[in-house]
Amino acid sequence: MAKIGINIATGSLQQSEMIVGIDLGTTHSLVAILHPDGKKPVALKEHDASSLVPSIVYFDPQGMPVVGEAAKQMMELQPERTIFSAKRLMGKSYKDVQDHADFFSYKVIDDDTESLVKVQVDDRFYSPVELSSYILKELKTRAEHILKTPVTKAVITVPAYFNDTQRQATRDAGKLAGLDVLRIVNEPTAASLAYGIGLDQEVEKTIAVYDLGGGTFDISILRIHQGVFDVLSTHGNTYLGGDDFDRAIMNYWLEQGGISREELKQHPNLVQSLRLLAEKAKKTLSSEDVFETEWNGDSLRITKATFEGLVKGLIDQTLESCRMAVKDAGVQVGDIDEVVMVGGSTRVPAVKQAVSAFFGKSVHDEVNPDEVVALGAAIQADILAGNNKDTLLLDITPLSLGIETMGGLMDVLIPRNSKVPTKAGRQYTTQKDGQSGIRISVFQGERDMVKDNRKLGEFNLTGIPAMPAGLPKVDIQFLINADGILSVSAKELRSGVSQSIEIQPQYGLTDSQVEQMLMDSIQHAKTDIALRALVEARTEGEQILEMTERFIAKNPTLLSGDELKLTADAMQALQLALTMEDKNLIQNKVEALNEVTRPFAERAMDQAVGQALKGKTLDHSV
Ligand code: ADP
Ligand code: MG
Repeated sequence: MAKIGINIATGSLQQSEMIVGIDLGTTHSLVAILHPDGKKPVALKEHDASSLVPSIVYFDPQGMPVVGEAAKQMMELQPERTIFSAKRLMGKSYKDVQDHADFFSYKVIDDDTESLVKVQVDDRFYSPVELSSYILKELKTRAEHILKTPVTKAVITVPAYFNDTQRQATRDAGKLAGLDVLRIVNEPTAASLAYGIGLDQEVEKTIAVYDLGGGTFDISILRIHQGVFDVLSTHGNTYLGGDDFDRAIMNYWLEQGGISREELKQHPNLVQSLRLLAEKAKKTLSSEDVFETEWNGDSLRITKATFEGLVKGLIDQTLESCRMAVKDAGVQVGDIDEVVMVGGSTRVPAVKQAVSAFFGKSVHDEVNPDEVVALGAAIQADILAGNNKDTLLLDITPLSLGIETMGGLMDVLIPRNSKVPTKAGRQYTTQKDGQSGIRISVFQGERDMVKDNRKLGEFNLTGIPAMPAGLPKVDIQFLINADGILSVSAKELRSGVSQSIEIQPQYGLTDSQVEQMLMDSIQHAKTDIALRALVEARTEGEQILEMTERFIAKNPTLLSGDELKLTADAMQALQLALTMEDKNLIQNKVEALNEVTRPFAERAMDQAVGQALKGKTLDHSV
């Protein structure tokens, strides 16, 4: 981490340092700073140009990237070399995005479905990280031009549901662009800051931040007290946004005109021009009742009422997320004091009305919804610079994090909706005598069996000195830093051997997958609990069988022939029970075996104590 020059006396950042706030959006990106005089956040723009830079990269035939408005102009002319919505690809594999492949008019590489996705233009391949870095580099250059000072430090925002891979990818993109990314901040957290809510220490409030952008939807419930922003819960969908509204209009026009998607596919630039017209129609319908235009010799028309009908389902989906977020936050809709609207798509009156009706109050839309996230990032940058020590920021984990234990059970270390940064630790031990290694598999999700959750990574703790089963103390620590990156470490406390990883999962989860995982956990809660009980009973049964076997092998003379027979019968009964799905039966047979072996154990104990008294060492493996 880079050192920041801080004035020790005042706690403020040295004059020459400038930390900017960047909203790296799916559709638009922009830079904001806290104005040094008025202490108000401002979005940077040149003269009367827009502050919004289209998040679009065009590659000219020489492979030189062109970013922003100029690139947007090329979408119709050269769709195959004009990359939009690259943020949707961040940290994703082709498998993750293939359902949406239609959406991309450029070539998304699909040869290896498991690895991270790349985009092909001519004979060059670009990762989403590189594509994002071109956008960031453009923003950096613009900011330097406007501010007339070098810009090297930034706070960059990401959707609340971005996972570790996606956050890391965003960080990497910043690095590639020559930016030191001091903090990755959740967009809704930044937006709430931009509204200044919570800056007054006296005010205690519960806030809902509804962010509907071009490609992503996020709802966050924040609790603000004593200047602390506490994110109670988040929900969302990285595949829901204004782009989908555009597609709904496109499809409507295609149906109306009797044009098939297949036909249209032959003409990529027609697709693009239709897409842009659809967006134009949508924006027009935010303030007018009808939109009419000419396209490819046809006249296109759509009314506001028709449009609202087309997107009603999409808006309802966002309300469903709101419902879940409110529930997860442990509050009632009536407890929400303020509702903050974020993202260009919240300009659609039907969206505002639906959200307002859902929460039963009028919504905040005073701050420009396209700029509000960047403005908040600038405030966060100022806080990081040490200029605003009264404000803390807390983010949360969207899914529980844990490790696999005996029988494939999920052992949660950090529960879902925990505040970030956070850490948690627990001690585990070995199953087998002399076991020199333990595999630590890290999972994310809400189900009781790890097979139903998502594996984030695994590593081996090796070199544990030979010890009897149960004796090693393996301390596992989970640490989530302020950026939401998880590191997992394991240390055997008796020997001191240790090992750790930083989790960079192969590819990410979409928000709908996160939601699906949550829904699944609710739906399967009953069977999961039953299954956990069964697995626990089985594990206990197996352990007792193993212990008994070992005991008999080590103490052949301790049992009479009759006792051996009794024990063997009880063991066989337990073994049979283990093959069945009956927890109670297993527990009965465990109890029965215990009943039979208890006297031997006591006898062995007496003998061992006797031996110890005679000065002999105990055999710990018994
Ligand atoms: P992102 O954060 O995903 O980059 P933005 O917050 O910039 O997204 O929102 C972009 C979306 O907002 C686009 O789908 C754009 O068409 C839509 N949008 C912008 N202005 C309007 C408007 N007046 N009416 C409806 N939608 C709008
Ligand atoms: Mg946005």
